Amino acid sequence: PTRPYDDDNIFARILRDEIPSKRVYEDEWAIAFHDINPQARLHILVIPRGKYVSWDDFAAKANDEEIGGFIRAVANVAREHDLVQPGYRLLANVGHDGGQEVPHLHVHLFGGQRLGPMIA
Ligand code: 5GP
Repeated sequence: PTRPYDDDNIFARILRDEIPSKRVYEDEWAIAFHDINPQARLHILVIPRGKYVSWDDFAAKANDEEIGGFIRAVANVAREHDLVQPGYRLLANVGHDGGQEVPHLHVHLFGGQRLGPMIA
């Protein structure tokens, strides 16, 4: 069972602009901002505006319009950063064993360099 959504998690506060972030994208469904501790030359986090704890929670509860809007938003961020031709990587950590630290769904977008194989 997914834990209840915590309205005080750091990304909820970023969504409400209570905490500053370097926003690079926003639309009806999602916002995107730079990761505070980048793991690649370009490391952006894309989050839905809706309150979902994880990818699993989102897939279970969001309606199709919201899911479609979020997926399109992720692709738009990559496209706007000219990452389609060179390529990029998406990652969503889910839960404890997945290494998820912030309990609001976020997709990591890595790019701006040739990425190595995933080792962990
Ligand atoms: P997770 O491990 O949950 O998949 O990833 C959480 C990510 O959020 C980490 O890459 C971490 O650097 C980033 N992060 C944590 N706190 C903040 C913050 O306050 N601002 C921003 N921009 N990123 C954060």
